[in-house]
Amino acid sequence: MDAQATTKPAVLILLGPPGAGKGTQARMLEQRFGLIQLSTGDLLRAAVAAGTPAGLAAKAVMEAGGLVSDEIVLAILKDRMAQPDVKAGVILDGFPRTAGQAAALDGLLAEAGQGVTAAISLEVDDAAMIARVAGRFTCADCGEGYHDEFKLPVEAGTCDKCGGTAFKRRADDTAETARARLEAYHAQTAPLIAHYRGLGVLETVDAMDSIAAVASELGSIVTRVSA
Ligand code: ADP
Ligand code: ADP
Ligand code: ZN
Repeated sequence: MDAQATTKPAVLILLGPPGAGKGTQARMLEQRFGLIQLSTGDLLRAAVAAGTPAGLAAKAVMEAGGLVSDEIVLAILKDRMAQPDVKAGVILDGFPRTAGQAAALDGLLAEAGQGVTAAISLEVDDAAMIARVAGRFTCADCGEGYHDEFKLPVEAGTCDKCGGTAFKRRADDTAETARARLEAYHAQTAPLIAHYRGLGVLETVDAMDSIAAVASELGSIVTRVSA
């Protein structure tokens, strides 16, 4: 067997509360390292928009800022992981979010003789998280993320990436729903930090820093763990 055939694709997890910068950083890592961003939030929003049974079941929970059931999330995640492009390596953005999801992921990877390469916890304080979520908007054409205060397009009203002029905001990005989502994070997702520390794959990053500074730190981590 040659070295190429034994190289395992990277499985990176971005952990962190809503607004920590997971999506922003995952898109940057995708471009820089040729990895595939896999966001369960994006997959669920697509299911809601398409009106699939999973989407119909998830819609009200998402609007209230709760967590969608492990059963639904795992089904859409497995579907996505079965597509050939993920062989390049993945950045899981917003998954896993519960102990059940983490155990299922460990099992899924073990079947393929793999494990999590690194779980990177993006640490932000609660007040910053609310402000980040409340000011978030994205390009309707390419999905590039922006913020009312921290990341406006260079030319007002025009997407830096694709030149699009239509933008959208998520229905669940209100200060009120953000609080419910933060509670769900502390109760269900934050305990996963200890799970990955126990597996010896935990990395932590100070995500209160600028987008560029966080990107640079993440780039160093990914380079180190993929070596
Ligand atoms: P998540 O995917 O973790 O929910 P996003 O990547 O969507 O978070 O970021 C939330 C909002 O905060 C976006 O509007 C984004 O432009 C902005 N943002 C992301 N990272 C930072 C940062 N380091 N400093 C300031 N604002 C940021
Ligand atoms: P954010 O990072 O800003 O919280 P996401 O786009 O990751 O937003 O998720 C939006 C919503 O989708 C969550 O509030 C939750 O209702 C649902 N969701 C996304 N990923 C998961 C998951 N892994 N498990 C359960 N619910 C999820
Ligand atoms: Zn765009």
